[in-house]
Amino acid sequence: MSLTYVSTRGEAPELGFADVLLAGLARDGGLYVPSSWPSITVGDLDRFASMPYADVAAEVMWPFVEGSIDREAFASMVTDTYATFDADEVIPLTDLGDGIWLAELFHGPTLAFKDVALQLVGRLFDHELTRRGEKVTVVGATSGDTGSAAIEALRDRESAEVFILHPAGRVSDVQRRQMTTVAASNVHNIAVEGTFDDCQDLVKALFADDGFRDTRNLSAVNSINWARVMAQIVYYVTTTTRLGGGAGRPVAFSVPTGNFGNVFAGYGAQRMGTPISQFVVASNRNDILTQFLTTGTMTIGEVHPTSSPSMDIQVSSNLERLLFEIFGRDGAAVADLMARFRSEGTVSVEAGRLDLLAEHWSAARVDDERTAATIATLYDERGVLLDPHTAVGLAAAREMRADPAVPMVVLGTAHPAKFPAAVEAASGVHPQLPDRLADLFDRTERFVTAPNDYLTVRTMIESTLDGAR
Ligand SMILES: *Cc1c(COP(=O)(O)O)cnc(C)c1O
Repeated sequence: MSLTYVSTRGEAPELGFADVLLAGLARDGGLYVPSSWPSITVGDLDRFASMPYADVAAEVMWPFVEGSIDREAFASMVTDTYATFDADEVIPLTDLGDGIWLAELFHGPTLAFKDVALQLVGRLFDHELTRRGEKVTVVGATSGDTGSAAIEALRDRESAEVFILHPAGRVSDVQRRQMTTVAASNVHNIAVEGTFDDCQDLVKALFADDGFRDTRNLSAVNSINWARVMAQIVYYVTTTTRLGGGAGRPVAFSVPTGNFGNVFAGYGAQRMGTPISQFVVASNRNDILTQFLTTGTMTIGEVHPTSSPSMDIQVSSNLERLLFEIFGRDGAAVADLMARFRSEGTVSVEAGRLDLLAEHWSAARVDDERTAATIATLYDERGVLLDPHTAVGLAAAREMRADPAVPMVVLGTAHPAKFPAAVEAASGVHPQLPDRLADLFDRTERFVTAPNDYLTVRTMIESTLDGAR
């Protein structure tokens, strides 16, 4: 029996997996969630403890895709996905002492956890588009991590031409080079003379331009895509089985959070039966989520730049998926709440609603100073270097841990060499890129520079597409 997906705002049609994959956002502005949560039993957890990551992944995700994709084709896409990771266990665990563990989600092609999901989503996209005989133009704006992960996920795929806009001179050299040194004829980097917000506005304008959107078949691989959440559920399951020793013993997670996609995947794993006793939502100075989870009120402010830029976010789009659950899956109530948030810039939920989260959820804000101190101390004590995002997670884990007898897992969302300046400033040590990227600074870059002007950017994309096809 195949699972269907419903929108968090209750007005869009129920769709199957393949349509949800290609649609991204639902037509009513909501996000798709599964109509029910499949279940994982204690027996499954025991079995998973001794299985390779990719095999567990194929089994855990199968109920979400069943009916849309052939089982063997799916299993082989999953195997190929995790073969791109340069660690045998895919997600290695490192002991940080005191029952705290680091889950290293950053061994994929671009050294950030986004690869765990996007490497699979790229393959799923290509598979479904090829089956339908369609081609898409993927456009996206990036301040760093998402752009390179999307490029690596879609490079050399015949079904997509990829245009990634980044703010010229405002992404780190490592991040820019990870995007611009990819030698694939379907990948196009545009450095916009402006800020990340300007890039985002240009992408929004391209999507709002009906003629362009429809003739060029525009598409996005954005963070609200259900398939990304689905792929992230898996490492909560595998990590829990390894540390809990199967047998259903609980584990806690601390999650460096921006758009809330990662930690919502943990919620999904818990709903499916994974024994997770605590989620620590870790924010940097941009703490709208910490405020919401501790007070029930969420207010938009301005974005402050921090040493953990991938968490410099004001509105965490995936939170809507959790709101849908705490409102008893009442789409109309969620639509109303989101409309008030948009128009007034602030919204509160009644205390009773948050009670549902009280048992398992906590949140903490960690500023840049504490982040740097956390990196320095851990390096001194154990010789382990953390990137600033992961350090926010570790500091929050120590502050909020509910039960010292339960293993606490800090999700390592980026390799330290992805943020060398902040890591070196904190620890005095320059983090080394892994061997396969050691020549990153010798590779040839390819990108064009564009003024922050809509028509110029659109014309550049159109002439590239006309030349490519
Ligand atoms: C994207 C990202 C995050 C935030 O993840 P969300 O799923 O948006 O909450 C945290 N750390 C790093 C390094 C990231 O790239």
